[in-house]
Amino acid sequence: MPDTLIKVDLSKSPYENDMIHNRWHPDIPMVATVKPGDEFIIQTYDWTGGFIRNNDSADDVRDIDLSTVHFLSGPINVAGAEPGDLLIVDILDIGALPESLWGFNGFFSKKNGGGFLTEHFPAAQKSIWDIHGMFTKSRHVPGVSFAGLIHPGLIGCLPSKSLLETWNARETAFIATNPTRVPPLANPPFAATAHMGRMTGDAQKAAAATGARTVPPREHGGNCDIKDLSRGSRVFFPVYVKGAGLSMGDLHFSQGDGEITFCGAIEMAGWLHLKVGVIKDGVAKYGIKNPIFKPSPITPNYKDYLIFEGISVDERGQQHYLDVHVAYRQACLNAIEYLKKFGYSGAQAYSILGTAPVQGHISGVVDIPNACATLYLPTEIFDFDIMPGAGGPTKHLDGKIDLPLSPDK
Ligand code: ZN
Repeated sequence: MPDTLIKVDLSKSPYENDMIHNRWHPDIPMVATVKPGDEFIIQTYDWTGGFIRNNDSADDVRDIDLSTVHFLSGPINVAGAEPGDLLIVDILDIGALPESLWGFNGFFSKKNGGGFLTEHFPAAQKSIWDIHGMFTKSRHVPGVSFAGLIHPGLIGCLPSKSLLETWNARETAFIATNPTRVPPLANPPFAATAHMGRMTGDAQKAAAATGARTVPPREHGGNCDIKDLSRGSRVFFPVYVKGAGLSMGDLHFSQGDGEITFCGAIEMAGWLHLKVGVIKDGVAKYGIKNPIFKPSPITPNYKDYLIFEGISVDERGQQHYLDVHVAYRQACLNAIEYLKKFGYSGAQAYSILGTAPVQGHISGVVDIPNACATLYLPTEIFDFDIMPGAGGPTKHLDGKIDLPLSPDK
């Protein structure tokens, strides 16, 4: 096996590991060096650094301090990579750590992060998913199991100083348009919980004060949460600093398009087997602004779907102009209402849409005034037939099992 360049000890806090960081900043020191053509293994914490536990309470999802996330492994110095190059990253394989064969999915409280459907599911809830080789199922969501489409939710290179300044300026200005919104419009830098890897002293203090939070996807990739960026993919990242500074984390065993529950997919600790290469001046040569990638030749083989449509008319009947966010929300709500007819709670149905290999598509964005979004629900992941028929839906679940819920304190 290739060398493991970054190791994690799940019994210890990620703050004790100087090969981990939770902010983006060009001055975070590189923790390992590779050269083009090298293969290597990187271990990662789950995105919360082990805060969420394998139990039947959602108190941890309710109480988590979201200024601590995401805990990333890196940055890795790629010898010879320079600003303007494209970094090629082959994701040769990904797996769970043998001591941690489980993952979690949750809904944050509306007061602490929220989620895509936070108006409908405002309280903290959690489901635990056990990993059985390439398959998963949950004691909190009966009647469903599926193969993993395992991927890093978050991967990218360190920003340059000027790119970081651009991010901070535009996001700070955006927050100022509605500073008291719950959940907030964006997250500004926050020094108190910043983990800047090996930085110490005044340099650490200065960088922590301006280090970008890891929540949004940005030009460098970052927290894109793309389920199809799975093991077997080849990604091309813009390089902004000498040595690239590749970092990653937030591994997902599986996720539906949109990662709609926000906490999140099936979140897990694990490892990645990677290989890197460099295309000199690739950014200009190919006109790259954001990363591009080639997906894996291997994916779970679900061919049959029940597809839910949604349009840009919201829950209150209000018209929105070609708004795909509203349209996808309606498609998701339509799927949840449908699954409830088979005995699922709304929370269980929401959890299925966040974790299973559900596809989301933008189907139409020109037919004024309504955008149309579609949600593809794979029918083969269920233990029973979910297709409509003359007899109507059969309640396959008795409602005795549900997701743990923790009301706000
Ligand atoms: Zn995640």
